Amino acid sequence: MKKILIIEDDKIVMASARDLLEAEGYEVFTAENGRRGIELARQIIPDLIICDVMMPEIDGHGVLMALREFPETNAVPFIFLTAKADKSDIRQGMKLGADDYLTKPYTRMDLLDAISSRLAKQNALNQRFNNQIQQVEARLNYALYYDSVTGLPNRLVFRDQFLKALPVKPPPDWIIAVVYLSLDRYNQISNSLGSNYATLLLKAVAARLKETLGDNASISRLQADEFALVLSGSSASLNIAQICQTVLEKLALPYNLDQLEVYTTASMGIGCNPESGSEPEKLLDNARISMLHTRQLGGNNFEFYKPEKFTPSMEQVKLESSLRHALERNELEIYYQPQVSIRHGNIVGAEALLRWIHPEKGFISPVTFIPLAEETGLIHEIGDWVLKMACSKVKSWQKAGLPPLRIAVNVSSHQIYHPNFLTKVSRIVQESGLPLENLELELTESALLHEIDTANSVLTQLRSVGVQVAIDDFGTGFSSLSYLKQFPFDTLKIDRLFVQNIGQDPESSAITLATIQMAHSLNLKVIAEGVETESELGFLRDHGCEEIQGYYFSHPLPAVEFEKLLASNKRLEDLSIVVKSSRVNG
Ligand code: C2E
Ligand code: MG
Ligand code: MG
Repeated sequence: MKKILIIEDDKIVMASARDLLEAEGYEVFTAENGRRGIELARQIIPDLIICDVMMPEIDGHGVLMALREFPETNAVPFIFLTAKADKSDIRQGMKLGADDYLTKPYTRMDLLDAISSRLAKQNALNQRFNNQIQQVEARLNYALYYDSVTGLPNRLVFRDQFLKALPVKPPPDWIIAVVYLSLDRYNQISNSLGSNYATLLLKAVAARLKETLGDNASISRLQADEFALVLSGSSASLNIAQICQTVLEKLALPYNLDQLEVYTTASMGIGCNPESGSEPEKLLDNARISMLHTRQLGGNNFEFYKPEKFTPSMEQVKLESSLRHALERNELEIYYQPQVSIRHGNIVGAEALLRWIHPEKGFISPVTFIPLAEETGLIHEIGDWVLKMACSKVKSWQKAGLPPLRIAVNVSSHQIYHPNFLTKVSRIVQESGLPLENLELELTESALLHEIDTANSVLTQLRSVGVQVAIDDFGTGFSSLSYLKQFPFDTLKIDRLFVQNIGQDPESSAITLATIQMAHSLNLKVIAEGVETESELGFLRDHGCEEIQGYYFSHPLPAVEFEKLLASNKRLEDLSIVVKSSRVNG
């Protein structure tokens, strides 16, 4: 029922208005003066006020002015009753914000019409206001719970998604898994290509995730390039590993971002209920630990969280401290792997590959300890040592009259951005007596992309003193060769991953072929890494690749053995003859 407040000092007028309105079904309140009217209005918040203008103490205008001051009453429709239809009086009332005027005496219809049209107008206003509120609320909700870049729900929604995926009474074989997904090398992409491309990439990744997962998972974007997936179902029907594998494959396909072809891969960690916890946040934390671990191992993979795997970080701490002593205790050793000219068949170079022979643990792979050396800053000392030892060794072979050799040394991104890098390299090599022309430094593309300008200038200066530069592991990064060509370098090393699949996987063959052709058009020399079979060599030879390196010709060897190999003048064709003659004999 609509509430109407009548403020009127004339008792007769008041009574007749009240009776009339009550008979029409309104709930009527009355006040006999302005002060009481203001009090009552604030108390009951009427839907409409009818107020006499001429009253002792506070007149109608005073009442209106007072009520417009209070937020609870400032929008209540207000109709004046006046005995004299004085125009200036009316104008003043309207200026104060009155909605209508009725002159006394008024007819029943006058009063009812004025009231109902006011109330209808107010209704429409309220409706519009409510709609606006709803829209603002929806926008606010969106801003609070959705990510504006990808349109995916954000971190705040993750918990809800998790709870929704867990039935109130889950069947005994119900699994719920949280996957923490992060793009490998996203920061480098963002730093090198700029934020516009990074945003485009995130959008494209989100779209691919949605398309790939469909109804099988709920997705949220946690931050930057990190996403959470919630998967649930009965253990018989839910194959988490398979879903993750599909996601990896889909995300690794090329992205066409505004004419630029970009590659990226992802690392995923998986926490399952209840093994990795039952609280969504705990599961997410554990999934993240696994994601970081799988990324450390090279990324483009997924891993289930296993508590026993991560608790003894004591191991890590011990390894770190023993790495500090590895140099002084002579536990590091350099192995040499020959690089062979396909056309001439002879050894033209060697790659220095570091080995750690730990007194208790035995052989530790550089894949494990180089990242540790980078984290701890030991990479500088270790890197200098490798350069010094490798150059001196090659110099000593030259002095001994062995065939000339180019020596390839791996350098990590931490080294090239060090301000003294160039002077240090020149000094170390010169002290060894080896001409700078005999040195090739191997860098991965990701190392170049941290700070493009610095990398460019370091590379330019290295080449100006005669040092050659090779891009290592080409094909495993995200950028295309047309993007990399902005850097000055001499050699492209095609990653083992592609070489391995030549002949079996048409895509790898096509990529290898295209890489060789493109490299040649840029005047780059190509070395294929990880060549293990004669058929791989055949493919590379047929397509004009210059050099190979791999177990097919020789494993990496300790210095003494490499020296013997070099002295033996072993050649590629010796191998084919062995293979052919063994075939003939067999
Ligand atoms: P990389 O520079 O790409 O080295 C090639 C890796 O492939 C070496 O692994 C080598 O042993 C392996 N390899 C060579 N031929 C074959 C083959 O036919 N089949 C297979 N399956 N593998 C082959 P390694 O020695 O374990 O080194 C791993 C990585 O560690 C290197 O990759 C390099 O990035 C890094 N590394 C090694 N020594 C140093 C160093 O002195 N400094 C720095 N910063 N990194 C180093
Ligand atoms: Mg290398
Ligand atoms: Mg490599």
